[in-house]
Amino acid sequence: VTPDLLPGHPVALGGTRGFAVTRTLPHRERRTVGAWCFADSYGPHDVRDARMRVPAHPHIGLQTVSWLLAGEIEHRDSLGSRQLVRPGELNLMTAGRGIAHSEVTPADASGHLHGVQLWVALPAGARDVAPAFAHHADLPTVRLPGATAVVILGRFAGQESPAVAYTPIVGAQVTVSGRAELPLEPGFEHAVLGLDGALTVAGTPLPTDGLVYLADGTSAVTVSGTGRLLLIGGEPFDEELVMWWNFVGRSHEEIAAARADWTAGARFGSVPGPEGTPLPAPELPGVRLRPRPRVRT
Ligand code: MN
Repeated sequence: VTPDLLPGHPVALGGTRGFAVTRTLPHRERRTVGAWCFADSYGPHDVRDARMRVPAHPHIGLQTVSWLLAGEIEHRDSLGSRQLVRPGELNLMTAGRGIAHSEVTPADASGHLHGVQLWVALPAGARDVAPAFAHHADLPTVRLPGATAVVILGRFAGQESPAVAYTPIVGAQVTVSGRAELPLEPGFEHAVLGLDGALTVAGTPLPTDGLVYLADGTSAVTVSGTGRLLLIGGEPFDEELVMWWNFVGRSHEEIAAARADWTAGARFGSVPGPEGTPLPAPELPGVRLRPRPRVRT
């Protein structure tokens, strides 16, 4: 297997003085890994300096995966859910045809906030499902020589997450100490996101907040060092996506309709709570949004 390094790039959520994240997906060369279509890493931020404060905003056509290494985030959504997420727990929100949510560092938080936010694209047959929210505090763990893993989504090393997924997929946090062989599904493509520590993947140094891509057709990868990584993967996602703002769709018209509904206060409902005014949608670009293949051609 030839690893392929995809470095992240810095993004400030909410403007130039906003909350600093490192985005690894979509990458200009590779937009998805399996159905994983978006990955932001953040922190560790001292919450005295940087608090997550994302007001109500809409999503369609995806699932959001909120996963923490340190700290807490409070999620609220237009279904009435209110759920704190802590390290080792999963907040999984299925947008389907439309949901709105807010995510904030709770008022009584202390210490540091460190985590990742990922999106999973819903396939054609499921992208109009009813919106849903689930919290999973008891995920399966796997012990391997040199590593332990928490199975967040899908199946890894014979253990299956209880979280609902709509495509053949894997998401697992792996803690490495020494040298480990991670079993891979040969029909999946995979990527490894560095979370902390000092690790190498198939002999390639894994930067913190960087992604190493592993093509399909391989049944294991060697990781070594001390630290934590996130393994993501799935069957290559062959539907061409239109991704714009917080929406994952298939056409310009679909995205424009979602934007118009959010602006009109329709479809998505409202999010209770004190997080201030909902996020306004940006203007659509002056050109039509185009569906894009998973790899730049
Ligand atoms: Mn969101």
